[in-house]
Amino acid sequence: MFENLTDKLERSFKILKGEGRITEINVAETLKEIRRALIDADVNYKVAKTFTDEVKQKALGQDVLKAVKPGQMMTKIVRDELAELMGGTATDIRLEGTPAVILIAGLQGSGKTTFSGKLASLLKSKKGRQVLLVAGDVYRPAAIDQLKVLGGQIGVEVYTEEGNRNPVEIAENGIKYARQKNYNVVIVDTAGRLAVDEAMMQEITAIKAAVKPSETLFVVDAMTGQDAVNTAREFNERLDFDGVVLTKLDGDTRGGAAISIRSVVNKPLKFISSGEKMDALQVFHPERMADRILG
Ligand code: GDP
Repeated sequence: MFENLTDKLERSFKILKGEGRITEINVAETLKEIRRALIDADVNYKVAKTFTDEVKQKALGQDVLKAVKPGQMMTKIVRDELAELMGGTATDIRLEGTPAVILIAGLQGSGKTTFSGKLASLLKSKKGRQVLLVAGDVYRPAAIDQLKVLGGQIGVEVYTEEGNRNPVEIAENGIKYARQKNYNVVIVDTAGRLAVDEAMMQEITAIKAAVKPSETLFVVDAMTGQDAVNTAREFNERLDFDGVVLTKLDGDTRGGAAISIRSVVNKPLKFISSGEKMDALQVFHPERMADRILG
């Protein structure tokens, strides 16, 4: 499927044996390989270029004679830089307020509803929280049913209002209901559209203003590559979200979108979703993603 960048690096560095130092000339081919591999993994061209320039600065003049395996040393430089570019360490979500409100935003089909269920399940089982899900997608009755089914599977109540077409009201009422019932976390799933449009943006910003979430998460399909980056930029400009959830990483993608999104919006990636099942959710770890991108 993908060529393994780690192997490529090791191979291209065999030619360095006996040269002693990494120089501008002997590293050029390797940097080109790295750039190509990043672009293949869906990393935006500009980001890949800046990245390889930084790696070059780090690598130049390093004493490869001392390194038993120069390829491994170079791979480590690349891996560490990639992890750094994605934020260095994992970033937790902020749960503040009674109840703490988490707002879920993104395009239709990005995996919002599935993620809402997964996050509810994780907060319930791993953090012992009392979680309420609120079905805010008023345009697709199927989305409400889907959330109800997921809620049933994980044992989490789902707040819905049949017939109400106002998602701001539903979200506000859901929070009131959560207070009455002593839920301490409310996850508000919202409607998406197939592409960014003004009506959707107005709606999601109105919901955000009304419910004042302590965490707004933007959900994006990793399989959409460069589009993922553009969508993230547009949502961030309007919504100023707190973190990114990358979904469908079980698909045929290296996940380079993680790097591009982080570089472009400068917001942390917080979760990755890798399947349709309720337990297919991981906290985002930059170094693990770097390993995945390197292959
Ligand atoms: P929404 O429109 O943003 O709420 O998206 P959904 O949660 O309904 O997800 C859209 C489709 O993608 C559904 O068929 C989900 O089962 C599927 N899906 C969601 N997350 C993942 C994932 O991480 N991996 C895979 N393979 N499918 C996913």
